Amino acid sequence: MIISVASGKGGTGKTTIAVNMALSIDGGVQFLDCDAEEPNAHIFLKPVIKQSKKVFIPVPEIDEKKCTYCGRCRQVCAYNAIAVIKGTGGKRGSILVFSNLCHGCGSCSYFCPEGAIKEVNKEIGEVEIGSSTALTTSTVGFMQFIHGRLNIGEAMAPPVIRQIKKYINPTRTVIIDAPPGTSCPVVEAIKGSDFCVLVTEPTPFGLNDLVLAVEVLRKLAVPFGVVINRSDLGNKKTDEYCESENIPILMRLPFKKEIAMAYSKGEPIVKVFPEYRKDFRQLFDAIKEKKGSL
Ligand code: SF4
Ligand code: SF4
Repeated sequence: MIISVASGKGGTGKTTIAVNMALSIDGGVQFLDCDAEEPNAHIFLKPVIKQSKKVFIPVPEIDEKKCTYCGRCRQVCAYNAIAVIKGTGGKRGSILVFSNLCHGCGSCSYFCPEGAIKEVNKEIGEVEIGSSTALTTSTVGFMQFIHGRLNIGEAMAPPVIRQIKKYINPTRTVIIDAPPGTSCPVVEAIKGSDFCVLVTEPTPFGLNDLVLAVEVLRKLAVPFGVVINRSDLGNKKTDEYCESENIPILMRLPFKKEIAMAYSKGEPIVKVFPEYRKDFRQLFDAIKEKKGSL
């Protein structure tokens, strides 16, 4: 079963929920941190990294001896990653590739009538594979840990996320810590999940971004439920929204200064307060029940 943990808004406690649920499930899980722009689950899970792999995307390289500056590549590039200036008055034109905008889709080289474009690999990030024994007990066993990191200055997280997800082992319970927000990297991380947990907080900003995330989940047709973090703060509007939209609230985690202090030290809640393991197991059971009833 693949469970993704996402949030429309950053800072709601998405990683806290993903990590603590992973540490509370019997039999060990596979944990994928797909927040490639800012991975932080490793701070809590303290994995031992055994392997790393660079992530590349194919970007165009132009042979200007062959290029006629026809502009076809610019027309087919949906990401404005190519600019072509036609030559005038006997002067040669020029062509520029903005590789940071390139998604590596290959359209430009496919459509170039002169065969003037070849694809070259550009490194954009790295995936690391290891294991975590942050909280090994007799029931909570070995956890496989995989995360990816986008290189500084790079903008294309989806290829890194795709690379992380290649390691999914469907025989295990897989927990994906998705990036925050509702953009392409989030969609890439969530798609294919059996269930998605949306973590929110009961504030106007939290609710606004929850509504956006719900729209994305409905478009992706991934079943989902909500966890309200810091549930005793803010207002009741999130509850009212979930009730009106028939969205199950799977768990409420009240604000506790000691939890915030543990977080700031990189300690999982269930390590500092083992009594919370029961709550996170119940969350997992609620997900299985919801998934089973669909
Ligand atoms: S499509 Fe090919 S020939 Fe035309 S501008 Fe682009 S690289 Fe040059
Ligand atoms: S590979 Fe795709 S995204 Fe990149 S420059 Fe060519 S058309 Fe644009």
